[in-house]
Amino acid sequence: MAFTKFGLIPELLRAIEEKGYSSPTTIQAQAIPLILEGGDLLAGSQTGTGKTAAFSLPMMQNLMKKGRSGKVRALILTPTRELALQVEENVAEMGKHLPLKSTAIFGGVNIKSQIKVLSGGIDIIVATPGRLLDLVNQRIVNLSNIEILVLDEADRMLDMGFIHDIRRILKLLPPSRQNLLFSATFSEEIKRLANGLLNSPKMIEAARINSTVDAIAQVIHPVDSQRKAELLSMLIKTNNWQQVLVFMRTKHSANRLAGKLESDGISAVAIHGNKSQAARIKALEGFKNGTVRILVATDIAARGLDIDQLPHVVNFDLPNVPEDYVHRIGRTGRAGNKGEAVSLVCIDEHQYLKDIERLLRQEIPKVVIPNFQPNPSIKAQPISHGRQMAPRRNEANRPRTSFRNFSDKGSKQFKK
Ligand code: AMP
Repeated sequence: MAFTKFGLIPELLRAIEEKGYSSPTTIQAQAIPLILEGGDLLAGSQTGTGKTAAFSLPMMQNLMKKGRSGKVRALILTPTRELALQVEENVAEMGKHLPLKSTAIFGGVNIKSQIKVLSGGIDIIVATPGRLLDLVNQRIVNLSNIEILVLDEADRMLDMGFIHDIRRILKLLPPSRQNLLFSATFSEEIKRLANGLLNSPKMIEAARINSTVDAIAQVIHPVDSQRKAELLSMLIKTNNWQQVLVFMRTKHSANRLAGKLESDGISAVAIHGNKSQAARIKALEGFKNGTVRILVATDIAARGLDIDQLPHVVNFDLPNVPEDYVHRIGRTGRAGNKGEAVSLVCIDEHQYLKDIERLLRQEIPKVVIPNFQPNPSIKAQPISHGRQMAPRRNEANRPRTSFRNFSDKGSKQFKK
């Protein structure tokens, strides 16, 4: 899936590319087309899912249909000043090639500077409810032209006691508008708010990234692509891993890897779309009862498998969709124990890794295994996705980088 599929205007696509997002997250893939249609939306999603771009991109495109009027036409309410700033920053970045102007409004800072910014003509306000009402009461902000309202982290706003302020703000808005409500949880109170606010909303829910990821020990082993199979064999043997789910990008390479592991004396089976249902069931049974030590799977094949709580998940290749990484590693973690997710990353996958770390908002520790250091003279190559080559835009022109550029932060020595 690419951002180009949504029919977004070139100014937004350019900003997305410059920001370095190569593919949409799940919430973006679901929300962007629905918001572009103009209807109301109720979205279950937490921070870390890419929700900000999920609403800000289509919101700006919808605003651009009419062109600028110098009036405030979009309002994003957030529970905290930090979130208001963060969201406004994202809106400004995504809208940097558009003439739309945005600003963040929150309490605890000098109101005069905010008044000055507002007098310059603002299209999009990102605000905490209390300070916004102050400015409305002082007749500095007029909300009667709002076309799109976003309630971001609505559950937190209610937890923080903003319900009365929100209701006051809603009364100031014109009745005909698009409403988007984002919330991590759906309490009775949120449902009541949604019922009174949203008009036949579409509903979507995204995976909870942070809670999944926190329980998993993650590590990256930088290695050259040609030596990944050898490294994996070594890791399995040295650490005596008994039950490992290995993710691969393509069916062909899954077959090849399973063969190589078998020839190294490690029982392994590949499962992917070309295998019959019976073969998959057999492989899965073997994996569960311990006769098959390694299951090598493509993302699509793994999706239908009833297996999780594994001690080890290995990303032999990094997925090109950052959220797939979270789904993959979510298979590990056993009651009481931390699961372990190991990723073998070659230089070609550097951008995928950056996308994943940005989504997770954390750097994954890099541990170079002795004798498997990447060869610094190897240059990045476009990545093949199955049958056809699908290089990302500008792939060929990407700056040459090497794993030597990875920060040492969080690195630790590999223990034998
Ligand atoms: P959010 O949930 O909106 O706070 O976003 C979480 C993090 O993911 C932020 O650092 C975003 O810049 C990043 N992000 C959002 N969309 C994408 C994407 N499509 N690819 C990679 N990173 C993204």
